[in-house]
Amino acid sequence: MKAIDLRSDTVTQPTADMRAAMMASPLGDDVFGDDPSVNALQEKIAAMLGFEAALFVPTGTQSNLCAVLSHCQRGDEYIVGQMQHAYRWEGGGAAVFGSVQPQPLDHQPDGTLAVADIAAAIKPDDPHFARSRLLSLENTLGGKVLPLAYLQEATTFARSKGLSTHLDGARLFNAAVAQAAANGSDARAEARRIAGLFDSVSVCFSKGLGAPIGSALCGSRELIGRARRIRKMAGGGMRQSGMLAAAATFALDHHIERLAQDHALARRLAEGLAGIEGLRVEPPHTNILFVDLTGPAREKSAGLVDALAREGVLATGLYRLRFVTHLDVDAAGVDRAVAAVRSCFQG
Ligand SMILES: *Cc1c(COP(=O)(O)O)cnc(C)c1O
Repeated sequence: MKAIDLRSDTVTQPTADMRAAMMASPLGDDVFGDDPSVNALQEKIAAMLGFEAALFVPTGTQSNLCAVLSHCQRGDEYIVGQMQHAYRWEGGGAAVFGSVQPQPLDHQPDGTLAVADIAAAIKPDDPHFARSRLLSLENTLGGKVLPLAYLQEATTFARSKGLSTHLDGARLFNAAVAQAAANGSDARAEARRIAGLFDSVSVCFSKGLGAPIGSALCGSRELIGRARRIRKMAGGGMRQSGMLAAAATFALDHHIERLAQDHALARRLAEGLAGIEGLRVEPPHTNILFVDLTGPAREKSAGLVDALAREGVLATGLYRLRFVTHLDVDAAGVDRAVAAVRSCFQG
């Protein structure tokens, strides 16, 4: 039987309809700016999120790199959370390629960066210090939706101090769908509301939206012009990339509202695992579930992920397991995952 792969929402296969859209896409050379499918995607995502322009890039990592290097010069710094992808999981790219120094801050339990901490991290204009230039936030962060009121407060404060603002919205649409469910509104309107608070936003098509490859950076025409130059330097100027852009456009048309199903499956998984002794389950906001091993259950941690794999369930973690739901998981798969975890803890 095929494994239930809960390691990440990046593992999805393009659906038959998405593949058909890719095969049918008109193509050109995007470095010359004449791939119609790339141009259509860029216009669509920019309009959806309320920006002048957008740039299609191969990965979210490159998108965040293009953003930081477009906002900052050598010797500038960006304020960022310790657990954010754009600080912790991108090989230090902003420092390596841009000589831009990160100023990491600890997160509050809800995933936010305290505005007082941001204030304290901003350096005065003094030759001792790097120039504080950018505030970078992430939503969702580890599956948590940052409150809209917080995003408003933090971005307003940053702007009042002369900082630009960037959102790593790899899972922006998961945040938007959860927020829409909470206040009875529309996911696309919520995405636009969140994005509208920032000078630039990066979104991933290759996560819950189910496209095979690709991200977009959105911003002003001027910022995206700078980002295009950086994308080229980073080796991200692709040619007939319209096939990939078509998959992303298909995802925007068909796979946003359905993220609610992934969130419901994460809750189903949480409820199933909560019944197993020794597991502390964090109630999921969206499609990412963290489960801590407590007490004697911790002794099972070594080899647990391998034992689960032998049961046909793939997850990551050691004392803190991570399960991510997505397009290629259904309720039966979630129930199999619960049964597999139970058998590991009973066996
Ligand atoms: C996945 C992810 C990225 C980018 O990842 P790539 O693998 O480079 O596409 C950036 N930020 C966050 C929060 C992510 O989850």
